Amino acid sequence: MRSISILGATGSVGEQTLDLVRRNGEEWKVVALTAHSNVAALAAMAREFDAEVAVIADETRLDELRAALAGSGIEAAGGRAALCEAASRPVDMTVAAIVGCAGLGPVMAAIEQGGTIALANKEALVSAGEVMTEAVKRHGATLLPVDSEHNAIFQCLSGNRIEDVRSITLTASGGPLRLVENLDAVTPEQAIAHPNWDMGAKISVDSATMFNKGLELIEAHHLFPVGLDRIRIVVHPQSVIHSMVEYRDGSTLAQLGPSDMRVPIASCLAWPLRMDTPMAPLDLAAIGELSFFAPDEVRFPATRLAREAAQAGGAAPAILNAANEIAVAAFLERKIAFSRIPLLVERVLSEGQLPDPPRTLEEVLGVDGSARKRANELLELA
Ligand code: NAD
Ligand code: MG
Repeated sequence: MRSISILGATGSVGEQTLDLVRRNGEEWKVVALTAHSNVAALAAMAREFDAEVAVIADETRLDELRAALAGSGIEAAGGRAALCEAASRPVDMTVAAIVGCAGLGPVMAAIEQGGTIALANKEALVSAGEVMTEAVKRHGATLLPVDSEHNAIFQCLSGNRIEDVRSITLTASGGPLRLVENLDAVTPEQAIAHPNWDMGAKISVDSATMFNKGLELIEAHHLFPVGLDRIRIVVHPQSVIHSMVEYRDGSTLAQLGPSDMRVPIASCLAWPLRMDTPMAPLDLAAIGELSFFAPDEVRFPATRLAREAAQAGGAAPAILNAANEIAVAAFLERKIAFSRIPLLVERVLSEGQLPDPPRTLEEVLGVDGSARKRANELLELA
């Protein structure tokens, strides 16, 4: 039996992870399950999987959680410190599925235990960069990518040497707005309606702006050190090929699969072995055609901004991420137009360079906090 904790258990990735755990129940002992504010969902999961501890990040809901877990013998905890404490309990596998830089502290706490981290929470890696990858090395932890593109690359690299890689190509669906003419008039409902994937609201908006691919470019840069100029992006609307690795001999390896996050999650849960998933096999004859386009960085400047931030290094990726989180939240609350998201990010980025790269978790959180503050000020000014 292996032990598992799921940070962000009530989200899209968290629920899909629990679906796989449910199907292989006898293999897993669930230690910690966490959520932001959905007490009912968290308590139900904690009871179903007989978790050791359930943590609600919003501390004002702790009494509610205690009441919901009364008589179960499951520990109830609340607040950010409790979240990190739960994440630091030794387990074989931690699934990091909180959305945003809010997940960074708990991920770092899990890394310090030296276990295996299945990382969905790309914002944490984008913000912390080397602070995270160095902690992984120092504590002997293993980072497995859940993000479908990075999981695909990880699989395509298996058995090969990173020195032999000529290039990595991240595929992008292009999102629901690829062919929409007027980006000013886009509503949150339109932006969230992803053609291929069923995901949380924030990443769905990121897919529509292409910031998701921008964040993934930075994520890939940290996970697979082949050099930023060797990481490419191609729009592939069918989302059948999840990414590719080209080698020096001219071979390109690709990973294909249904657009269902349970495939890359299962690949992490079972790694280095394989496990069953319930999806229908890929039917290429029914899909018929696969197409590819160059990204349009004039209409969707996010990938250019992310590449520039990655090139600048230091605090820039954390600033880009923080400004984007604020911009997306403002868009979802209908405070700003869709087309303003990249403008706000570019503005905060252009103002916010720091002389030294952040070297500790606290410094990363400091950069994140000031970039959020500046983004909020700019929103107020408008
Ligand atoms: P989601 O919004 O569905 O779920 C987020 C989870 O994090 C929930 O459990 C929520 O309670 C928790 N959470 C939110 N804010 C929090 C906070 N401030 N403190 C503590 N917990 C908080 O998001 P998702 O779509 O599951 O995405 C999770 C992460 O995985 C994101 O980083 C996303 O980019 C990445 N990812 C998601 C998918 C997908 O298909 N959904 C695919 C690839 C990568
Ligand atoms: Mg992805």
